[in-house]
Amino acid sequence: MTPDLDPSTVVVHAGRPERVPDAPLGESPVFSSTYIAGGDRGYGRFDNDAWAALETTLGALEGGRGLTFASGMAAAAAVCDLIPVGGRVVAPQHAYSGVLALLDQQAATGRLTVDRVDIADTATVSVAVAGADMLWIESPTNPAMEVADLPALAAAGRAAGALVIVDNTFATPLLQQPLKLGADIVMHSATKFIAGHSDVVLGAIITASDELWRTLEQRRRSLGAIPGPMEAWLALRGLRTLALRLERAQSNAAFLAQRLLEHPRVSLVRYPGLPDDPGHARAAAQMSGFGAILAFELGGDGPGAQRVCESTSLWVHATSLGGVESMLERRRRWPIEVPTIPEDLIRLSVGIEHPDDLWADLEQALKA
Ligand SMILES: *Cc1c(COP(=O)(O)O)cnc(C)c1O
Repeated sequence: MTPDLDPSTVVVHAGRPERVPDAPLGESPVFSSTYIAGGDRGYGRFDNDAWAALETTLGALEGGRGLTFASGMAAAAAVCDLIPVGGRVVAPQHAYSGVLALLDQQAATGRLTVDRVDIADTATVSVAVAGADMLWIESPTNPAMEVADLPALAAAGRAAGALVIVDNTFATPLLQQPLKLGADIVMHSATKFIAGHSDVVLGAIITASDELWRTLEQRRRSLGAIPGPMEAWLALRGLRTLALRLERAQSNAAFLAQRLLEHPRVSLVRYPGLPDDPGHARAAAQMSGFGAILAFELGGDGPGAQRVCESTSLWVHATSLGGVESMLERRRRWPIEVPTIPEDLIRLSVGIEHPDDLWADLEQALKA
């Protein structure tokens, strides 16, 4: 494809079959556990047309080569497997709880050691990364909404000889391209914005290094955490409309962040799009939009926050994010969530409904 197309065009057109007479417009999932001998594909755990189409599209958006996995965690686990035995990882204090739990489990068995840092504190991270094998970054972080300085951290990680990974789930490949900012590997929970309809669990990594891609592809074969063909096809179908979905969800999020900021019951709002947010300048420099996730707090009131989550009728009280439907949850309802995340922090995943309907429902729930 033409290299200078806008990402909102690339997301629609990348990963399509060649335009020859009678070709279909999109690749179809191949439902076969094996292939006739003599070719490169060999077996269903190694390759599938639906994976390849999704991988090509994600690669075109992020500026590298894609590889899909059974879930975001399967992708994260394959990446963590790159750490040498006894190696050291620098990871955010606040990040997706499943990734932090995976690292803790691996540390508990002696497989590796983990140093947890405030990922928004560039000076501290740059010191901690000396001698480390991997720097795991998430930005904005789930659910604290901290913003890491990606170019500075990628440079510090590389200078220290550490592999630099960015979990780009919250930003999506349309709003932030970490490979272009110096990262080695981008990881996604495609379950979220990429698939976008709360009906698929899927993960992906993208890297510009052919060597890393080949190593990770071998890991996927060995670990066996492959996506189903149907899931990959659904995720690509969802991805085609990401630009439109994000446009609406993002403007809804900006509107709701402002409303929450003005609400007397709300003590703190974290959304990088707010001019006074600590991550605003960084996000404005490295993202092309501020995304559709925000977090707010109710001044230390955990049970009160739980009541708000249970008092909505339009907002879906559920975990996960990035779907067309707006969702909310109090993250500390999960025992696995990091204890420094406040008890009363509510994470909003803003969908594509009408903003007035979303605010009306949230406002009545805040009276609970
Ligand atoms: C959900 C999520 C994951 C895990 O992805 P799954 O698809 O649920 O395995 C990883 N990172 C972030 C930021 C997430 O939100």
